[in-house]
Amino acid sequence: MTTDSPAPRAPYDPDNIFARILRGEIPAHRVYEDEATLAFMDVMPQGEGHTLVIPKAPARGLLDADPASLAALMASVQRVARAVKAAFAADGLTIFQYNEPAGGQTVFHLHVHIVPRRDGVPLKRHEGGMADPALLAQHAARIRAALEAGEG
Ligand code: AMP
Repeated sequence: MTTDSPAPRAPYDPDNIFARILRGEIPAHRVYEDEATLAFMDVMPQGEGHTLVIPKAPARGLLDADPASLAALMASVQRVARAVKAAFAADGLTIFQYNEPAGGQTVFHLHVHIVPRRDGVPLKRHEGGMADPALLAQHAARIRAALEAGEG
């Protein structure tokens, strides 16, 4: 066995949960969509207004994504982040992205987390429990309204 061959990369699974959301096979509280990206509420929010932004192009994580897809993703992250900050009158935002199980990733379609933050309020635990769907729907509506008001 040689030591210079790269470790085999796990393949992209087209049946991962975010791919299924993209195909409309399972519901999501959608807040923004364009030709290259989709944003929706995280069902286990680490703070009120926790939103995910994903590229439509299949990629397991940051490392295998196409640069053009990453550029579109980050443009949407900025747009949605501005709207989230306005919608929740946040003092700041925490924006993060995990790669592979060792990096904390649990869903293997590239995604960026946006969590509105308030001074002195800690982040909740990752995957700390399902939110009330009615509340998530309300939060999604607030973000959509902020985008429509030109906050993005
Ligand atoms: P991670 O891969 O660790 O960055 O986290 C995946 C995130 O996706 C977690 O914050 C989950 O709460 C969230 N999540 C998992 N399933 C869904 C779903 N069906 N809709 C929205 N968010 C989800």
